[in-house]
Amino acid sequence: MTARHLCPLCQHETELYVQINRLPQLQNVLYATNAQALASPSVDVAFRICNECEFLYNPEFALHDLEYNPDYNNNQTASGTYQRHVAAVTDLLTQTCQLHPQSRVLEIACGNGYFLKTLQARAGLDAVVGYDPAYADQYGLDNAIVKDYFAAIPGDTYDLIVLRHALESVVEFEQVMQSIAESLNETGWLYIETLNLDYITSSGNFTCLSHECSRYFSLQAVSILLRQYGLKVRQAVELFDRNYLGVFAQLKAPNSNVTRKIDFLNTLAASYERPVIWGISGRAITALTHLGWDANKIRYGVDIDQSKQGKFIPGTGQEIISAAAAIDYKPDLVLVSNKNYLTEIMSSFPYQTTFATIDGEFCGTN
Ligand SMILES: [Zn+2]
Repeated sequence: MTARHLCPLCQHETELYVQINRLPQLQNVLYATNAQALASPSVDVAFRICNECEFLYNPEFALHDLEYNPDYNNNQTASGTYQRHVAAVTDLLTQTCQLHPQSRVLEIACGNGYFLKTLQARAGLDAVVGYDPAYADQYGLDNAIVKDYFAAIPGDTYDLIVLRHALESVVEFEQVMQSIAESLNETGWLYIETLNLDYITSSGNFTCLSHECSRYFSLQAVSILLRQYGLKVRQAVELFDRNYLGVFAQLKAPNSNVTRKIDFLNTLAASYERPVIWGISGRAITALTHLGWDANKIRYGVDIDQSKQGKFIPGTGQEIISAAAAIDYKPDLVLVSNKNYLTEIMSSFPYQTTFATIDGEFCGTN
């Protein structure tokens, strides 16, 4: 009777994907002689796939065989194409995670430090932290990179943790994921870049498979994995001609996100004497109702739709006035319910005042 192979991620039955024999145990170690190379350790691997969660893995993966040391050479940084990929990803991280000079950024399994150094330069970060036992003092990061495996330090949290091309083969996988979850601050981001199983299975490109990569994730499988550690995928991209999957995740905190938004809007509205809300849509009414903002807090609703003007908002009771009447009222804060109209509304004011979108993403003057 054949042994049952259950998916390590979702425990469903798996099936054989492809059997590849004589794969080197470590594919990025080269040898000084032909004899040494031919005698190097190899292993026959039966890669298995779970069609339930779209996860592919190597059941033969044996941690005790893999020793990452300075002989391990996975350096792709000489290639201009690779450098452009890194530049594009670091810019995407800077934008998505809203990095600023004081952001606390950690890269786990940072290799020679090239990515971390590029991220530090392009995002203008004051400092970065890296962990990799194979780091050999490249790129001048010897004060920033710890030559060891990463483990969480209580109270030490980050705005961004980067895990690139390590999820496939990281030693002590579960502990690393747990340490990451414990080391993210409340609004912190985890960025994972990994081989893209959705690409491998759709293209049949078996050359992406190797013994030292134990795990191959589809976006669905990454989502399932992250959920097990209290994390949620917020955004995902296919990179490098679909070869890689880039995933942005945060701690699951739907309620605290709402609380933060409410606190922000209440503080904002309380700082002004004559606020109005512009665009009496469902969003505006939900905001007014949920925040308990009656006409004492927000004096008027504003809408260019004449059929709404002169009427009153349900629940909170503000009168809806025209754009011209609102401009005459001289509000010191205009809350804009739909930011698509922000520029148009700002440019219609003949004097300077403050505008803010109710999603909290913009606050400034015209
Ligand atoms: Zn599965």
